[in-house]
Amino acid sequence: MTDLHPNRAVFDQVMVPNYSPVSVIPVRGEGSRLWDQEGREYIDLAGGIAVNALGHCHPELVQALKDQADKLWHLSNVYTNEPALSLAQKLCELTFADKVFFANSGAEANEAAFKLARRYAWNKVGEEKHEIVSARGSFHGRTLFTVSVGGQEKYTEGFRPAPGGITHVPYNDIAALEAAVSAKTCAIVLEPVQGEGGVRPADQAYLEAARRLCDEHDALLVFDEVQTGVGRSGQLYSYMTYGVTPDVLTTAKSLGGGFPIGAMLATDKAAACLVVGTHGSTYGGNPLACAVAGKVLDIVSQPSVLAGVTARHQRLKNHLQEINSRHGVFADIRGQGLLMGAELSDAWKGKAKDFVNAALEEGVMILVAGPDVLRMAPSLVIPEADIDAAMQGLERAVARVINA
Ligand SMILES: *Cc1c(COP(=O)(O)O)cnc(C)c1O
Repeated sequence: MTDLHPNRAVFDQVMVPNYSPVSVIPVRGEGSRLWDQEGREYIDLAGGIAVNALGHCHPELVQALKDQADKLWHLSNVYTNEPALSLAQKLCELTFADKVFFANSGAEANEAAFKLARRYAWNKVGEEKHEIVSARGSFHGRTLFTVSVGGQEKYTEGFRPAPGGITHVPYNDIAALEAAVSAKTCAIVLEPVQGEGGVRPADQAYLEAARRLCDEHDALLVFDEVQTGVGRSGQLYSYMTYGVTPDVLTTAKSLGGGFPIGAMLATDKAAACLVVGTHGSTYGGNPLACAVAGKVLDIVSQPSVLAGVTARHQRLKNHLQEINSRHGVFADIRGQGLLMGAELSDAWKGKAKDFVNAALEEGVMILVAGPDVLRMAPSLVIPEADIDAAMQGLERAVARVINA
């Protein structure tokens, strides 16, 4: 029997136990507010893990989706379609890219990027030039190739044998990167800000060194901007804040504003190796996804929206610093734009989940980034009043945890 309003207990009955969702079930959203089955209201600073770039049910995105829904849902890549072509044009106009490949998620965009890197080197040199160098603590998705390139052991445990030819180096360590890269390297893969790995921004000199090493060894520099992309950093892409341009960039999460889509952006030089038949996706470039993403890009790329991200960053940071001055729970407050991390001080290490749970009870949704870091990735257009109210709720939650 199916329930009209199934509760959390149903999850344990019928869902694979790989997630552990909280007990409340949101049923409706508007802007940066959500309501659960009981009608309780929440302020959303989780943003669907850096996905809902324009909040929930942004009227222009709803309209773009409805308009496309009345026209055409799906074709496959036997045919091309107008929303996909327009979106690819926009991405090329707004970034370094000459070419775009569409996928449905961040992991798939990365899978395409890693395969492209292998193929590019195979074309030019041969199979011996296949090594991918990536950073410890990095996250690139959950397919077997992407967990293997990712720098977190726990995600490959029990799933080996994993794809080989991957070297992990400590993040932000230039000497280690120099030592790892050789003529056999086909790509260096980096997040400009490690998201899942604790909201850790790259050092300027580190990304510059990665660029130089790729040029010296004819390897591709791949930036995974699945989490940092589409305005979240305060620029359209985080690489623009550094002025270090990759050969390949992956984008997903915020790109669809909540509708599933991923994309790999590449230079002509890199893209040329993926000739007909080398890679593909049934849904990649789906008209519904591309229509919504096109509207997301139109809105987010406006200078006023990007400037708003930087202003909100400062507001959020000021609040976090004030909370810390009164309660002393954070060792570091960091991040770019509206991807913010607050690392807990020694006394509270390992307890990030407790703060997240207490915040939810105070009506505020935030995230963890590992056991020691609170993460916030709200809508890029969250009203300032919602930031203020959410920070009052967070402060009550902090007080609850430390007085418990
Ligand atoms: C979320 C994320 C991914 C994976 O994206 P999915 O859409 O979950 O496959 C890859 N890279 C980074 C940096 C991410 O934050």
